[in-house]
Amino acid sequence: SSQSYELKENSLIYTKLKQEPYHGEKPKATFVTLARNKDLSSLLDSIKSMEDRFNHKFQYDWVFLNDDEFTEEFINATSIIVSGTAKYGRIPKEHWSFPEWIDQDKAAAVRKKMKEDKIIYGDSISYRHMCRFESGFFYRHPLLKEYDWYWRVEPQVKFFCDIDYDVFKFMQDNNKKYGFSISMKEYMQTIPTLWDTTKKFLAKNPEFIHPNNMLDFISDDNGESFNRCHFWSNFEIASLDLWRSEAYSKYFKALDEAGGFFYERWGDAPIHSMAAALFLDRDEIHHFGEMGYYHPPYTACPIELDTRVKNKCYCKPEKDFTWQDYSCTLKFYNVNRLKKPQGWAQFSE
Ligand code: GDP
Ligand code: MN
Repeated sequence: SSQSYELKENSLIYTKLKQEPYHGEKPKATFVTLARNKDLSSLLDSIKSMEDRFNHKFQYDWVFLNDDEFTEEFINATSIIVSGTAKYGRIPKEHWSFPEWIDQDKAAAVRKKMKEDKIIYGDSISYRHMCRFESGFFYRHPLLKEYDWYWRVEPQVKFFCDIDYDVFKFMQDNNKKYGFSISMKEYMQTIPTLWDTTKKFLAKNPEFIHPNNMLDFISDDNGESFNRCHFWSNFEIASLDLWRSEAYSKYFKALDEAGGFFYERWGDAPIHSMAAALFLDRDEIHHFGEMGYYHPPYTACPIELDTRVKNKCYCKPEKDFTWQDYSCTLKFYNVNRLKKPQGWAQFSE
């Protein structure tokens, strides 16, 4: 058999025999997916798309995490189509529960109010645990210890274009720390006090602000207010050291103590985005514009025909969200003085 598995301490590890050796030094990188057993079929489509477009050539590992026990069906089906080593881990209880300082009555009242106000996931407890986990804990899971880089993949996503180069090597060689595909504006009702909490943290810890930061991407008034721009975190290619840094560890701790994951509905996307924009050199943040990507309800599709031909893209440029009003990617190009693709304005309505 070309597959073997071992079971150790709550984690299951499937190892595939590699088809061909990797030339050069391979980055220590993995895909990472947080999922429930019921996500299986929509996740298989995501994995298949990633394997067909990229990973069959590079055979990076894939770490699956769950707050519950994965079923045998889930493990069998996913390990069969992942070309690298597939690993399955259970999330420790402390990383998926209410911290003891949270006032349960206050949190319950917020959920009730958000339900009445029809805020998406407003009444969900599990969604809040998920956002807190993706903000502050996934990179501390033992299965991620050995890696320097990760690519986050969710159920229900699609990759539309061939990705012929080693993306992790690109990150490493070009000194990139955070890569995104789609950016957009946040619903303010989910994060009313996140920016004020962030500002308080920065006032106490000004040494963490990078001299060449990208504050102008997340604020239009030099930090007074948050302009709602953030990277959509269901797609992330990033350095695990960014989150393991002293700056981010202290930042997450301050946010967690403020309670906004439960007293509001803080998402990991604005939190990761604020941290990347403040703690990194702006040149360390990269837009992957040549990679078509879909996560409901938005599509990123390269608008240049050359790119779509070269990368065999299967997507409609007229569906592209990148240059539209509700996206922040135009701002990203402008504040960083990057060259926008030909004809972008035609795709802005
Ligand atoms: P959305 O993209 O914000 O609409 O949220 P999703 O439903 O896609 O959830 C984000 C990610 O967290 C996905 O990878 C989900 O599979 C995962 N996820 C969400 N809720 C849970 C949960 O309760 N348990 C586990 N194990 N994964 C979850
Ligand atoms: Mn999702």
